[in-house]
Amino acid sequence: MKKNENDASSLAYKNESATKTMSEKEIARAFEFAKGYMDFINKSKTERDAVREILNKASEKGFRPYEYSKKYKPGEKVFFNNRSKAAIMVIFGKQNVDRGVKIMASHIDSPRLDLKPSPVYEEGHMGFFKTHYYGGIKKYQWPTIQLALHGTVVRADGTSVDVEIGEDDSEPVFYVNDLLPHLDRNLAQKKANDFIPAESLNLLAGSLPVKGEEKDAIKLNVLKLLKEKYDICEEDLLTAELCAVPAAKARDVGLDRSMIAAYAHDDKVCAYPSLAVMLEMNKTPEYTTVCVFADKEETGSNSNTGLDTNYLYDFVADLAEAQKSNIRTTWALTKCLSADVNACYDPNFPEVFEKMNSAYINHGVVLTKYTGGGGKSSTNDATAEFFAEIRGLMNANKVCWQSAELGKTDVGGGGTVAKYISKLNADVIDIGVPVLSMHAPVEIISKLDLYNTYLAFKAFVK
Ligand code: MN
Ligand code: MN
Repeated sequence: MKKNENDASSLAYKNESATKTMSEKEIARAFEFAKGYMDFINKSKTERDAVREILNKASEKGFRPYEYSKKYKPGEKVFFNNRSKAAIMVIFGKQNVDRGVKIMASHIDSPRLDLKPSPVYEEGHMGFFKTHYYGGIKKYQWPTIQLALHGTVVRADGTSVDVEIGEDDSEPVFYVNDLLPHLDRNLAQKKANDFIPAESLNLLAGSLPVKGEEKDAIKLNVLKLLKEKYDICEEDLLTAELCAVPAAKARDVGLDRSMIAAYAHDDKVCAYPSLAVMLEMNKTPEYTTVCVFADKEETGSNSNTGLDTNYLYDFVADLAEAQKSNIRTTWALTKCLSADVNACYDPNFPEVFEKMNSAYINHGVVLTKYTGGGGKSSTNDATAEFFAEIRGLMNANKVCWQSAELGKTDVGGGGTVAKYISKLNADVIDIGVPVLSMHAPVEIISKLDLYNTYLAFKAFVK
């Protein structure tokens, strides 16, 4: 409540912009913070890239590989690498874990085009890779942009090689063809989802034949070049994980440079600030702090690197067991910020937003009480008590925050990893950065919103 309680206007909630509440100095700090983020996101396009980058930084700051069942002392720092595709960082607190742990959870996988197990073919004197899209993409957005190939190929003898083609300006890129407008008169009759059928999302990979072959000479040349560069054959591709991602680098947007255009803000824009808080924590926290970087959120959090599985539960259970703590009380007292992006209000598409409950650019980190679709189905719904506690924390630490839902009721909806963590009997609330053009090959966020997400994590774990 403001000073004059008789002034009725002081009763009204004002969702103020960070451009008003932050000082010039703080804004400069936010712009500086964004530089570290842009460097991170350029190196972390896939979940494997992100795990490598996160664990490199963690090792530099004294985090050590987690040893199962070992009893750690307060202040010790460890990381757990889940199959090179997901990771957990921990800083042990003064309290035993059965007083609850504090979890910051985000995901590091992003929508993209994966190569099919048998991808290479030639047709019309061109060589292609067939793809299978990953996550919720608008397929028509992926043709005619420059794509890089990232991934890992494991040979039958167990040796492996990391693939990365198209990030350096000296390297070639890949490309999905589109139909010229002159021959696309039927376009108006098509539904957006049929503009580009999934089976037309094929990557252009070459056009020169190998010498001395008649049949499939272009395909064989592609295989020959892969053999020369990576010492792999076609059968190795059957078991590989290769992803086509936009080759574009993160760039400032706007004359004021206040925004960032990049691939995969969803959800590196939440992963990075939680990582930054872990890396710079130099005091032993009261409660054990657990920072989760999950895979497979974009496909429903299944598989053994996604959060709708047992690995987080088992990991925390192992922490509890090593301290002879009760895992059930550990979960019951655990608090979690489930960090994922939210839709930013876009005046170009006002029809899908409900203005009173939308996230606005530069209005800070978004807190979302409940997610899901329709009548709140498949939701994580934070209790009034827990939301108020987090709100108090944000206010006390001068974090610029806003409350929002994802769009109008009944126009769509979405979920995050929150419900998989609240299922374990923890208190969980959704928090994150508003994004424009979410899931497009290039998305937009604001530097001030990114920075306030960092401040929110910092307040939560201190
Ligand atoms: Mn997300
Ligand atoms: Mn997403």
